[in-house]
Amino acid sequence: MESKNNDNKNNKKQNITIIISVILIIITILGIVLFMKYYNKDEDKEFSYTQLLTSINEGTVEKIEMTEGSNTAKIKLINEEKERNVLIPSIDSFVELVQDKSNNGVNIEFNQKERNIFVSILRTLISFLPTIILVALMFMIFKMQGLGEKGKVYDSETQTTKTKFEDVAGLDEEKQEMIEIVDFLKNPKKFQDMGAKVPRGVLLCGNPGTGKTLIAKAIAGEANVPFISMSGSEFIEMFAGLGASRVRKLFEKARKVAPCIVFIDEIDAIGSRRTSSSGAETENNQTLNQLLVEMDGFDTEETIIVLAATNRPEMLDKALLRPGRFDRQITVALPDLNGREAILNIHAKGKQFAQDVDLRSIAEDTAGFTGAELANILNEAAIIATIRERQSITNKDIEDALKKVTVGLEKHNRVVSDKDKKRTAIHEAGHAVVSHFLETQKDIKEISIIPRGVAGGYTMYKSSEDKCYISKNEMQEKLIALFGGRAAEKLALGDISTGASNDLEVANDIAKNMVTVYGMSEEVGQIHINLEKDPYQLELLGKKYGDIIGTEIKSLVDDAYFKAQTILANHMDALEVVSNELLEKEVITAERFEELMANIN
Ligand code: ADP
Ligand code: ZN
Repeated sequence: MESKNNDNKNNKKQNITIIISVILIIITILGIVLFMKYYNKDEDKEFSYTQLLTSINEGTVEKIEMTEGSNTAKIKLINEEKERNVLIPSIDSFVELVQDKSNNGVNIEFNQKERNIFVSILRTLISFLPTIILVALMFMIFKMQGLGEKGKVYDSETQTTKTKFEDVAGLDEEKQEMIEIVDFLKNPKKFQDMGAKVPRGVLLCGNPGTGKTLIAKAIAGEANVPFISMSGSEFIEMFAGLGASRVRKLFEKARKVAPCIVFIDEIDAIGSRRTSSSGAETENNQTLNQLLVEMDGFDTEETIIVLAATNRPEMLDKALLRPGRFDRQITVALPDLNGREAILNIHAKGKQFAQDVDLRSIAEDTAGFTGAELANILNEAAIIATIRERQSITNKDIEDALKKVTVGLEKHNRVVSDKDKKRTAIHEAGHAVVSHFLETQKDIKEISIIPRGVAGGYTMYKSSEDKCYISKNEMQEKLIALFGGRAAEKLALGDISTGASNDLEVANDIAKNMVTVYGMSEEVGQIHINLEKDPYQLELLGKKYGDIIGTEIKSLVDDAYFKAQTILANHMDALEVVSNELLEKEVITAERFEELMANIN
């Protein structure tokens, strides 16, 4: 029932669109006609042959210009800037007449007929211009309507793909999760008989170029089912209702060829949070709603798996993430050292390399690169080697390709120097080791020196279950953990760096809140400062108070920094072991970290 209703709605929408198009065309034609009328009128405005004769008699004509084969004369009057066109009924008698009057000071000029072919072609073209514009306009509208060539341009793409899991390097955990889906596509009956619920929608989150499309294709390839793909941005259209009808067509097609994979790239283009109801937003809503309708309407018999890719999962409308829709999320991470080596190996196939090429060392130099970027580097290297007329790709070619590709990338300094890498490893190890010895900060999830955004590395904590309250002790320990990075740099390298500025920012915010919002400083007491509510509150408290607040914040952070150094000074061996492992492997998981720490003690 619901989808019937939707059909009607969409038909109405299309009719409205056609009416709007027709009105647009009429307005355009009217505009052109009026424009030309006005132009002609302007040129020979109220100036007739008789008036011309009078003017000649009065001697107010400065110049007459005539062209062979044309019976329009260009007239310039003495007291006027612009020229006028006047239609001459009989040229011969006019010329005679003017020559008679030539003593009146009229200057008459005769031009030869234009023989320049180029100019005449140009003129003809210009005269056709309005027609050309009109035809182009109509063509565009028809194309948008999809009435012209039957949706060829915007249509989704159906492929049989030969891509297999072995073509996807690294991403072992991700592949593991996908095996279940392949199994389901191959043998849906087995699952249905068991009454098992298999995910219908899977959201692949990750940076562009990390292999989301590749892994989606590999699922289709492994299961040997069609791969239907479309990009979210292609759904968004100027004319209302079209995005929704495209979604409908996409799933119509999918139902015909099921079992199959439907892949929607850039789903955030249609699935962004519904905030306001401005024009483009309403359109997106309809597209999004249609997608939800289609996914909810899946029959248990139908084996269609919808995979969608985005690099901004937090932007998505919550409705998309509900059970039965995209209820499973898989994060496709940037490849680690081993992953990068594996990707390089895959893309090295079919290429000739010189003896001096070591893919492992290239992998070491490319922390933070995506799979697509790595593939690109090898391809560029092959091009460079060809230009240099070499038999095989040398290490120099690869280094030059790396430079070329990096310069083209957004973050120019992504090739991290060994020195920076060492500092990052020590900094992150510092956070981790200090945290290990703090009762409330133990839950480390992952430590990494793979650059992320502006950060050179990160130490990630397991997200604590939603706590209502945070104790003062926990906040103090959080401060100490935040200073673990800087403290480690100071102790292990003898010098600190700019790398800790974000840590400082967060720590200062926490300390300020402890003192001014949560009343956690004894000196300041039970004060809650809210300058938005009461801009004069600080003044009311007096300058002395402001000074105490400042001193308290400072002593909280200084104290935390001192404690972080004390912990590390007692565990320099741990700092060394963890930072070395980071340098070697780039990523340390929670389990591995526990293992390392257990071995030391
Ligand atoms: P995304 O969809 O995440 O933007 P793609 O799947 O389109 O990324 O990746 C682009 C290209 O990069 C792929 O076609 C492939 O050549 C290469 N690539 C990316 N990740 C990998 C990987 N893990 N293994 C092998 N090649 C990869
Ligand atoms: Zn840090």
